[in-house]
Amino acid sequence: MNEMRKPVTAVSPATLARMIAVVGEKNAITDKEKQTPYLVEFRALWTGHTPVVLRPGSTSEVSELLKIASETSTAIIPQGGNTGLVGGQIPHNGEIVLSLNRMDKIREVDPISNTITCEAGVTLQRAREAAANAGRLYPQLLPSEGSCTIGGNLSTNAGGTAALTHGVARSHALGLEVVLADGRVLNNLNKLKKDNTGYDLKNLFIGAEGTLGVITAAVLRLVPRPKSVETAWAAIPSVQASVDLLGLAAERTAGGVTSFEIMAREGIDIVLKHSAGTRDPLATKSPYSVLIELSSQRPEGLRDSMEQILAEGLGKGLVLDATICESVEQAKAFWRIRELFGEMQGREGGSIKHDVSVPVANIPAFIEEGNAAARKLIPGCRPMPFGHVGDGNIHYNITQPVGADKTEYLKRWDDMNDTIYKIVLKYGGSVSAEHGVGIVKRDYLPKIKDPVAYELMKTLKRTLDPKGILNPGKVL
Ligand SMILES: Cc1cc2nc3c(=O)[nH]c(=O)nc-3n(C[C@H](O)[C@H](O)[C@H](O)COP(=O)(O)OP(=O)(O)OC[C@H]3O[C@@H](n4cnc5c(N)ncnc54)[C@H](O)[C@@H]3O)c2cc1C
Repeated sequence: MNEMRKPVTAVSPATLARMIAVVGEKNAITDKEKQTPYLVEFRALWTGHTPVVLRPGSTSEVSELLKIASETSTAIIPQGGNTGLVGGQIPHNGEIVLSLNRMDKIREVDPISNTITCEAGVTLQRAREAAANAGRLYPQLLPSEGSCTIGGNLSTNAGGTAALTHGVARSHALGLEVVLADGRVLNNLNKLKKDNTGYDLKNLFIGAEGTLGVITAAVLRLVPRPKSVETAWAAIPSVQASVDLLGLAAERTAGGVTSFEIMAREGIDIVLKHSAGTRDPLATKSPYSVLIELSSQRPEGLRDSMEQILAEGLGKGLVLDATICESVEQAKAFWRIRELFGEMQGREGGSIKHDVSVPVANIPAFIEEGNAAARKLIPGCRPMPFGHVGDGNIHYNITQPVGADKTEYLKRWDDMNDTIYKIVLKYGGSVSAEHGVGIVKRDYLPKIKDPVAYELMKTLKRTLDPKGILNPGKVL
């Protein structure tokens, strides 16, 4: 894992007092115990430290705070729900945490323009519920929806399980409100699909992981709610079969494949072993399974499409066995296995993770070569790939050998990353598909990015944050 870098300057008591005065004592957390939820990463991989967690209640308070931070060269870590997986939201070097979680107003739902305007601290779940109450769908879907926020989703350009049809966070954003490092407010909160008045500034801040500005609000695109949804679980013989079956499903539904998730057998067994209440959807044991979700604006006919896809898949040897959900509860039970897939690997000891993408056609070769290389590097290790086939996005996790020492295994993290990333790059892929760079992949960027692109990123950082106060040491 990458080493931490030093903060810009230590925070003086006078600066702290000025910042606390902006949000008020009750919204400034200095008590160490109360700070814990803001400092400990979801998997407890990192624990940060900070003199204060500031919880502003408005854009103008964020602006005041950044004016003081800029004037005093004080480092700030923007934070949403603290569910990020690359250490970007953690104050590793005693920086001030700027939590957006009090800014949780849904400013407007406009079902005619098909937009929702949310403050940055609105959780994904609340945004989805507000859209549903207006008869619309906000199509971002992440297992962390109860905690992660709109600001965090946009700052990480989150993907998730519905990106196949609806795209990643960037595709949902129409307008943004952003506080710049010097405290100026960029008001770009428009509802327009078409706005060609120069550079598309909002896209600079999407996926920037809090290094270029603090997102305080966003206008997001809504879509009609589907009238029918069908979910199926299929046992398949190989990774290649998943790619071929996806192609077949796409042909038969013309854009209706909302999710298409692959899971390795060994990982499914681990979920079933460690999570009470889960049950294998099929008796047939196969090397891989896929979870398929189709949706449609038509109330009828989707079941027929799913049956046709699976029957054709059976005929072509792409499917060994399959079951279609009979109820919403059953679909939830299938999805629960998928959602627990990454987390439950932790119950078996250490797990070395890779969130990577390759062109869809290269997924089978990547996984085959990855498995062989991983086993050669650490004999007995257990590769358990899973993820979003349609996006070429594989969560390539490798669990420790049975009975191995967890600490010793995790010491090989960098060696394993190097081994797997080489194969990813060989197949024209990316070492960060959806989780971002943070500190985990920061030192890889100069090695893998086009040098001109990397230089432009540094130029943008210097231009927008000349004092380097926004999330220092992350991404670059
Ligand atoms: C169980 C689980 C499942 C997950 N599944 C997925 C998945 O399927 N797909 C996926 O893409 N991710 C997934 N994630 C990762 C995570 O949920 C996403 O990255 C999410 O978008 C982070 O949102 P957050 O509000 O928690 O942001 P945080 O973790 O608080 O912050 C993440 C980054 O964004 C910056 N940031 C946060 N808010 C702002 C803001 N308002 N302005 C500027 N910068 C800001 C932070 O500085 C940090 O760099 C998962 C995480 C968990 C724990």
